[in-house]
Amino acid sequence: MNDAPPPAHRLLILDDDPMIGQTIRRIAKMAGWDAEFTTEAELFFTQVQEWCPDIIAIDLIMPGQDGVQVMTELARRTCTAGIIITSGMGGRVLDAASRSASEHGLNILGVLPKPFSPAQLRNLLTTETPAELSSTMPAVNVPQRSSPSLKVADLQQALDQGQIQAFYQPKINCSNGALSGFEALARWRHPAFGFIAPDQFIMQAEAHHMIEKLTEQMAKTSLSWFAQFCQSPEIQSHSGINQGQPIKLSLNISALSIGDIALFEQIESYCQELKILPEQIIFELTETSAMEDPTASLDTLTRLRMKGFQLSLDDFGTGFSSMLQLVRLPFTEIKVDKSFVLTARQSQESRTVVKSIIDLGHSLGLVTTAEGIEDQETFIYLRENGCDLAQGYLIAHPMPAEDVANWIENSGIDALIGKKF
Ligand code: C2E
Ligand code: CA
Ligand code: CA
Repeated sequence: MNDAPPPAHRLLILDDDPMIGQTIRRIAKMAGWDAEFTTEAELFFTQVQEWCPDIIAIDLIMPGQDGVQVMTELARRTCTAGIIITSGMGGRVLDAASRSASEHGLNILGVLPKPFSPAQLRNLLTTETPAELSSTMPAVNVPQRSSPSLKVADLQQALDQGQIQAFYQPKINCSNGALSGFEALARWRHPAFGFIAPDQFIMQAEAHHMIEKLTEQMAKTSLSWFAQFCQSPEIQSHSGINQGQPIKLSLNISALSIGDIALFEQIESYCQELKILPEQIIFELTETSAMEDPTASLDTLTRLRMKGFQLSLDDFGTGFSSMLQLVRLPFTEIKVDKSFVLTARQSQESRTVVKSIIDLGHSLGLVTTAEGIEDQETFIYLRENGCDLAQGYLIAHPMPAEDVANWIENSGIDALIGKKF
């Protein structure tokens, strides 16, 4: 059996210490990679251009041009290879270098503090390469055309014609892998541009008084899908799902809608019609939105909680509000912002922030959820640190309703109840 990756997987190493360069090359070759190394920055840039490596390993500290300068130059040349930073410097310096390179737009796969074991290097090499990443990334996460010029009238038409669709991303229980629920995420199925991500139209909807309609449509569509889903025989027959607890649906609520009593009443009446318990619905609010008008928020949120709805503080860690607000408002869940989760594997600081948020959530009796989990290592870190729920591409990308059944079948519901993760 040949486990070697296809020959297209090329690794180029730049290290001023030939011993280290050779060692990395040997380990990579044993793992089936085509690997080359050089000690010279100039030769290195020629090889980058001519040999087109998939991954580049760069030593941070080198005489002459150092690793940061090399990466700046790579960014200037819009290099798309995955980059591994190696160094004997402390973790914080490596983290800072990695952050600076990411900010330059480079694709950083990870850092490799020296001395490293062959297994550590192999792990980095077996993380998805840029090519694999882009082939598994569903088109919806990449705008179909570069920045289509979207007009307010188009969005109005989209709402009138039902072009705003809900995609669903699963959340699972960290400790046993059981399906806990889904988050509904808006997608605009544009007739000319294909699927457009919400970052490109939610703000516009907010600015032009269309967010009420959008939220209402999203709630209506996703609640009716959810009711059907919960009543489907597969779900009914698996008492193991979510340890016998009803699964939940999370809806994003805009800052501007917090005081919109009519909207919440409408959602409540949909729930009654569809026989969905308020306990099954989680309203996700961002830190800033929840805090804008503290008194009005307190009133609305308290009333929603009294009816049984769940409340989640989304993107926690990015806002400017104080913990006092978190304590003051009746949240039931806290979602660690994905910027920390996405970088947890490489950054000690991000891990510290993630862990502090989990601890804070638990000390307040809240369910803690991490979103943006893309790799197994981060998932394990979260589980070991007591995070309750997990959401991210590792588990599943957001998907249209018609793909959910398939996803469950392929992941295997049994796998979700503890075997897969
Ligand atoms: P959000 O509420 O923080 O939603 C999570 C975002 O993270 C989603 O982006 C999701 O696709 C993305 N995500 C999930 N797992 C991963 C991962 O492993 N890696 C990475 N890189 N990303 C991941 P999406 O769907 O593009 O939504 C962006 C934002 O748009 C949402 O952020 C939310 O603030 C807003 N939004 C989406 N749907 C609605 C809606 O119906 N109403 C309102 N008001 N806002 C919405
Ligand atoms: Ca959200
Ligand atoms: Ca979020």
